[in-house]
Amino acid sequence: MNTKGISTNKTDNHSSAKYDAIVIGAGMSGLYQLYKLRSLGFRVLVIEAGSGVGGTWYWNRYPGARFDSESYSYGYSFSKELLDEWDWKEHFSGQPEVERYCNYVADKFDLKKDICFSSRVSFAHYEKSNNSWSVGTDSGQEFSAQFLITAIGLLSTPTMPRFEGISDFKGSWCHTGLWPKEGIDYKDKRVAVIGTGASGVQAIQDISKTAKSLTVFQRRPNWCTPLHNGPISKKEMEEIRAGYPELFDHCKKTAACFIHTIDPRGTFEVSEEERLAFYESLYAGQGFGIWQGNFRDMLTDEQANKLMSDFVAKKIRERVEDPITAEMLIPKDHGFGTRRVPQETFYYEVYNQQNVKLVSMLDDPIQKITENGIQTRSNEFEFDVIIYATGFDAVTGAFNRIDIRGDNNVTLKDKWAKGPRTFIGMMVDDFPNMFMILGPHAALGNNPRSIEHNVEWISNFVDYMRENNLNGAEAPINAVDEWHELVSGKAESLLSNEVDSWMTGINLNVEGKQTRTVVRYTGTAPEYRARCDDVTRNYFKELHLF
Ligand code: NAP
Repeated sequence: MNTKGISTNKTDNHSSAKYDAIVIGAGMSGLYQLYKLRSLGFRVLVIEAGSGVGGTWYWNRYPGARFDSESYSYGYSFSKELLDEWDWKEHFSGQPEVERYCNYVADKFDLKKDICFSSRVSFAHYEKSNNSWSVGTDSGQEFSAQFLITAIGLLSTPTMPRFEGISDFKGSWCHTGLWPKEGIDYKDKRVAVIGTGASGVQAIQDISKTAKSLTVFQRRPNWCTPLHNGPISKKEMEEIRAGYPELFDHCKKTAACFIHTIDPRGTFEVSEEERLAFYESLYAGQGFGIWQGNFRDMLTDEQANKLMSDFVAKKIRERVEDPITAEMLIPKDHGFGTRRVPQETFYYEVYNQQNVKLVSMLDDPIQKITENGIQTRSNEFEFDVIIYATGFDAVTGAFNRIDIRGDNNVTLKDKWAKGPRTFIGMMVDDFPNMFMILGPHAALGNNPRSIEHNVEWISNFVDYMRENNLNGAEAPINAVDEWHELVSGKAESLLSNEVDSWMTGINLNVEGKQTRTVVRYTGTAPEYRARCDDVTRNYFKELHLF
């Protein structure tokens, strides 16, 4: 066993500076990575900016925040004991339950003792002389480790619009992704929500119930479909538990690891009657079935996609009483499912309420935030609360806010200036001994499934390195180029590739994110895992090992 880089000291003292691995982030990725490496005998430190575990589910505590995937498919699968002990309360659990779940996992496996909370990593520098990483936090702590593992999430860097006067506003305001623990009092208040992505839609549904008035500022509408949530009875939970092995096995076989399976039929292979009946059944079904379980050509064939879009547009017109408002809520610039589909519970009916108003920013753009509210081109609004549901600097944003420097002082930010390039989403050339969980160009979708895959692949490789007395590993440039070409090719056939969204690297609030880039791997998860397995089966020989 190599003892040069890997310490065998098992005492857990954060003031001690040398670790085998430093993991950034204590969300679902970081928690499992800590558990896994620790159980292999490595000494691991997790550094977390928040004061608690959960990552996404720690920060996004806005009203209405909840899973959009079936709870039982969205937890960890690695521990039978955990699966036996934890009862999900809702088919799509809300943030408080998910945060409790993350804490339950952390406590059950005694993970918190190895997490340095309330510390944001500001830099991570590779030291060639000893093949290790030096990592510093914004409070001045410094640590080092042979391995650096990023578990920083792909939607974890909230972005604010570049409006003039944001801080002049005298009422309460915040971003959905930075919702304060003590909450924001919006009951009987005049509230504005800016943004109608998945976060905005969830927040609007909830806030509209108790706000005195709610004004929604929408730039581009999204196609939203019913979640059909509901409680899980004790009996149902027992049935779900009995079916866990088959459920997780099934998720491994679907394109994006969701429980929904793409329908093998093409849209035009069935009669109109059959097609409409199928659409109706999808609309009446739960969760992402309508997106991930639709006809096989719905996301690749414009005509097929148009039929589906027309069907959802008709539903919106039926549900929204005012025809002008209904038209404002129907996307005209992209087809159904080509951006992430927000899941809703009576979202469209919110606009039938007397206390709710929709402002289209395409017709009446916001000009500035004032002391008392919002000034648009043709109106002045007064508010007590302004909520920014304006999204994230997705995929690369969390990397860019850390000064990550690899071999020869190369910065990751510079390396990715024209878009990310990775090998199987987990490694980057010039960044030895650095691994990413849910990095750019890894298989995404049902993220906990992807997280478990990435963590297990990384842990297995790190273990292999220890067993083989290796000090370092790096993805060679040709492997990165090859992966990049494959990922770019996969994206070409998709309609979503022709649409602006975080999934195509666009965020108009962020410098340098105005042109579309391929940031996701869009092949199937089974294909992705097979490629990763090849690397393992070939004893990692495609990598530069030293
Ligand atoms: P988002 O999808 O990027 O939506 C941001 C919204 O803010 C959009 O409507 C956008 O309008 C608007 N916006 C941004 N900047 C603006 C500006 N300067 N002026 C006016 N409008 C502006 O962000 P999100 O809703 O936070 O969701 C991001 C992702 O997080 C989702 O796609 C999903 O993957 C994940 N998420 C998951 C869940 C869940 O699983 N339960 C819940 C919430 C979010 P444009 O469309 O015109 O740009």
